[in-house]
Amino acid sequence: MTTCPYCKTGNHPQAVKCAACGSWIGAHTPAREWERAREGKMIAGVCRGLANRFDLPVAALRVAFLLTLLFGAGIGLLVYIAFWIAMPLEPEPAALPTQPIVTPPPAPGTQIQSPPSA
Ligand SMILES: [Zn+2]
Repeated sequence: MTTCPYCKTGNHPQAVKCAACGSWIGAHTPAREWERAREGKMIAGVCRGLANRFDLPVAALRVAFLLTLLFGAGIGLLVYIAFWIAMPLEPEPAALPTQPIVTPPPAPGTQIQSPPSA
């Protein structure tokens, strides 16, 4: 029996999705999560994040949001803000290896100045 980590409901051993709450369980958890994207975002990364989550073209989502904004009497804005609040920002990408600070060698003929002694 596979126990859902979210609602603790027992599921079929081969279940990939919890029958009770619909959460992904087991090894088939999609890599994409409900996260706002850092890259390629326009406002808060909500559209990009949803596009990542559902493998949808982000342009289609933006158009859908825009239409809801224009014709939805503010519902689109509310939905967008709700997603904005509900979706965590995706984790920071792993810190890039910092470039070694390269100091150019002193120009030929330059004397290395020692601090003047008092
Ligand atoms: Zn569940």
